[in-house]
Amino acid sequence: MSKISNFHSKEQYEAIIHQKLNDNQLRENLQSVMQTLRKNRKNTIGSRYTNWEELRELGRKVKQNALANLPTLLERFEQNALKNGFKIHWASNAKDANEIILSLMKNNSQNVILKGKSMASEEIHLNAFLKENGINAIETDLGELIIQLIDEPPVHIVAPAIHKNRYEIGKIFEEKLNAPLESEPEKLNNIAREHLRKEFQDFKIGLSGVNFAIANEGAIWLVENEGNGRMSTTACDIHIAICGIEKVVESFEDASILDLLLVPSATGANITCYNNIIKSPRKDGELDGPKEVHIILLDNNRSKILADKHYYRALSCIRCGTCLNHCPVYDKIGGHAYLSTYPGPIGEVISPQLFGLDNCAPMLNLCSLCERCSEVCPVKIPLASLIRDLRSEKAGEGRGGIIGYHNTHRNKIEKQSFAIFRNLATSGVKWRLLIWQIRIFGKYGNIFGSLIPGLKNWLSCRSYPHLDATLHSKVKNLKGVIYE
Ligand code: SF4
Repeated sequence: MSKISNFHSKEQYEAIIHQKLNDNQLRENLQSVMQTLRKNRKNTIGSRYTNWEELRELGRKVKQNALANLPTLLERFEQNALKNGFKIHWASNAKDANEIILSLMKNNSQNVILKGKSMASEEIHLNAFLKENGINAIETDLGELIIQLIDEPPVHIVAPAIHKNRYEIGKIFEEKLNAPLESEPEKLNNIAREHLRKEFQDFKIGLSGVNFAIANEGAIWLVENEGNGRMSTTACDIHIAICGIEKVVESFEDASILDLLLVPSATGANITCYNNIIKSPRKDGELDGPKEVHIILLDNNRSKILADKHYYRALSCIRCGTCLNHCPVYDKIGGHAYLSTYPGPIGEVISPQLFGLDNCAPMLNLCSLCERCSEVCPVKIPLASLIRDLRSEKAGEGRGGIIGYHNTHRNKIEKQSFAIFRNLATSGVKWRLLIWQIRIFGKYGNIFGSLIPGLKNWLSCRSYPHLDATLHSKVKNLKGVIYE
């Protein structure tokens, strides 16, 4: 399994973005899936919900309340979970979490673990760590299985293999699983099912993520569509669940509100096929279920985000992925171009805070600030405005305090360009003169633009825009309104 290192230079970002932009098959696949996901979400919300905006506001309040009281709720969750028979582990960083899982594997003399989908396990690069220690982590979610077979990280936080179409998946199964070449979804599902069923027949330890941890109940709630999550958490002797500390909410009712928002936002469905609400390990007299359940409460810089009075709102995320689906940048380049476990708008907000601003700084440019993400986020995280604020941090002009920040990422040329832009944009006369010049000389842009360093990269993948010939007169007409 390929491991994503945390630091990537601006040049690495530029190289991968150009590679993805030139990959026509990828762009076709992404466009098709994103359109479907957006359409499904819109149809479901339009036809099944009469109070979506009220529900979003409720969801925002639920998460706000949970974050405001997180230390208390975490303690309450721990107490109740212990009473229920769970074992609780606190992991302050990725290394701690990985070590906890490794010691559970070693103590039980196991070298295979079956995994349900878990972005937290991707965040800590668990598979690569276990492999280094002789342990085989087998992905059982269909999308995760596909990318594991080709040694790629997830391209999306909900749908990890959406960059591959069914024909490509058929070829992957043929090459890696020795299966007959198929392209029908049912047949592909059957191939995956048969392959995984063998793994499920004899395994001792299963791993999952957590969607909601309920403090009042000491229970965890996992949503999924394939049944592999239920198998990974119930057919084993030991279940390990990795739970980011921000997943804790106060009550079952609170979790239900978030679930109502999560499912249509993620896939456009009304409800997921499987809701696994786990309240205890197997009790005396029960015939199935794991004998031990270990919950790892993962911090990994989340408490630092929580302490920030401005950026803490990023922790409200319920990982629905709809901000990715609506992002006009993500749907052109896909998740790998972000060079982080978390791509898209939410990735741009949390990656710098989880992994360090210097490490993720170039990622903040992958946003047009169109605000679509903020409009669709089911828990109303102001994503675009947080991205803009993080850009100020990157330029050394923010509030400060983001981890892993040492140098301003604003170079001299950028600084001078913005000073010139500010000078022009704040003077009506200069701005009109600029528009007039662009209109006259703009037609030479495609010919000579590539000779200008600042425009060279930009023009290598798009045409110089043609300014509307009527714009000058429109601007003139606005004179009285805007400039005077
Ligand atoms: S930020 Fe909002 S839209 Fe994006 S994944 Fe999180 S909850 Fe979903």
